[in-house]
Amino acid sequence: MSAKPDLKIVLCSPRGFCAGVVRAIDTVERALDKYGAPVYVRHEIVHNKYVVDGLKKKGAIFVEELAEIPENTTAPVVFSAHGVPKSVPADATSRNLFSLDATCPLVTKVHREAAIHFKRGREIFLIGHSHHPEVVGTLGQLPVGAVTLIETAEDAKTISPKDPNNLAFVTQTTLSIDDTAEIVALLKERFPNINGPHKEDICYATTNRQLAVKKVAPVVDALIVVGAPNSSNSQRLREVAEREGCKIAVLAQRAADLDWERFSNISSLGITAGASAPEVIVEEIMDAFAERYTLHVETVSAAEENEFFPLPRQVRPEAAAE
Ligand code: SF4
Repeated sequence: MSAKPDLKIVLCSPRGFCAGVVRAIDTVERALDKYGAPVYVRHEIVHNKYVVDGLKKKGAIFVEELAEIPENTTAPVVFSAHGVPKSVPADATSRNLFSLDATCPLVTKVHREAAIHFKRGREIFLIGHSHHPEVVGTLGQLPVGAVTLIETAEDAKTISPKDPNNLAFVTQTTLSIDDTAEIVALLKERFPNINGPHKEDICYATTNRQLAVKKVAPVVDALIVVGAPNSSNSQRLREVAEREGCKIAVLAQRAADLDWERFSNISSLGITAGASAPEVIVEEIMDAFAERYTLHVETVSAAEENEFFPLPRQVRPEAAAE
């Protein structure tokens, strides 16, 4: 039997689950423990099929709209980490549904910023990708027309606000740090008095995962991002790797997705995972490579993470007796 070729694996750190995703998954699991199945979840709790399928097996039922939940149910409904438009909790209340809000606190922070700007009478720009559930949720915090979506640098160059001196911007949390910096710079150049967060609203997890990919992508032959195609932060990681010159930058949900042809001539491979991708899939992919190569594994770190977000009050351990 011929010896397996060598392959250097460079693991990006941090990678995978962020504090907001851990909180969202724990919210569903705690609700299942405390109230029993079923627990309804509006939208994929996080954009990861493995996680969603695991929760389905435990008794979670995923719906896109509250209308899919039977009338008069006493089962809880959990809102996903991406956040929801204001109309959703209002609808839940009017239907007497018991809701648990797993919106990431860093998304809620953006909702609050937008509300404050609105109160101060400012026209608001939201930098983000249309149709992403987080963007739908943020737009839905305020009346229709109060917030204008800016998706590209071109949008920033051409937008014509009513009053250029009374503007504000907020951003989606999972954007490309470089693209967003460009858009923010364009807005500040055109509208020097625009109000906004100190930098942008891109969260720590998105930032740190992109910084780690920036370190690793230039020194490997290929890079795999473990993540789903509908996961914004995973897609951005793949784009960052490509921009840093990595010729083979792919997204994979499972080891079975890998196109082995593409990895036939590599001697080094970077691996990262989007904020909604579990470490068990990283291990699965490493095991698949270990069947074909002799692995030499190292880790490149861009940041330490210690963030922790407490669970919604109703499912915190101290609320067990409620
Ligand atoms: Fe929260 Fe960022 Fe994680 Fe999204 S990626 S859930 S905003 S910490």
